[in-house]
Amino acid sequence: MGWFDWLTRKRPSASPLPWQQARQALPILQGLSELEQQRLCELAQALLARKTLTRLGVALTPLQQAGLALQAALPILHLGLDWYAGFHEIIIIPEPVTRRESVQDEYGLVSEVTEEHAGESWQQGPLVLAWSELADDGGWDGYNLIIHELTHKLDMLGGEADGVPPMGPGMDMDEWRRVFQAAFDDLRERDERNEASIDPYAATHPAEFLAVVTELFFTDPHRLHSVYPAVYDQLARQGERMSA
Ligand SMILES: [Zn+2]
Repeated sequence: MGWFDWLTRKRPSASPLPWQQARQALPILQGLSELEQQRLCELAQALLARKTLTRLGVALTPLQQAGLALQAALPILHLGLDWYAGFHEIIIIPEPVTRRESVQDEYGLVSEVTEEHAGESWQQGPLVLAWSELADDGGWDGYNLIIHELTHKLDMLGGEADGVPPMGPGMDMDEWRRVFQAAFDDLRERDERNEASIDPYAATHPAEFLAVVTELFFTDPHRLHSVYPAVYDQLARQGERMSA
């Protein structure tokens, strides 16, 4: 179910979007080879052909659409579009949704909090992304909302979002669990001392840990490699099969 399989099953029709220009506008694509960039473009076009892109009160230029699709294709560059089987629609909204929510603490006390949601991905549901939060994505700054939310989708492809996505060929799920649990525990300990080495949001849940380190993998790889080299190694191995 790799790249070549879907390419022969369905070749996406030529798109009028300015792919070349969009590629050049995204710094995080600089490390890709020419072949990888071509694959990424094909994947991005196929993604737009297969998934519904709904814009609610947001007008995207062709360049912005292409940039969005290219970044969305990045996590599955070497895995293939089948890995996005868990959703059919991407909904772009103008601003993060703010909502009152009831939260129960460890003692059973319920309090009302206001939560801001820049992005959401529910099991089998659409991906919801706030344009104001992702319009500037694509740089080497360690943050990328599109990659973050799509990582949750990949995680949920294996069932509950628990930080363990389905494993690609040659991957060892036990090893993945061991490596990620050790790093997650380390981050929680550091966070308690206010010495978190990466965004402490990653310490809130194993699924968030995976989403945050995947953002780093694509947008600040040196940092991830220096902080959690074994995690970096797992992510690299999960995504490198087709590059040979
Ligand atoms: Zn998240």
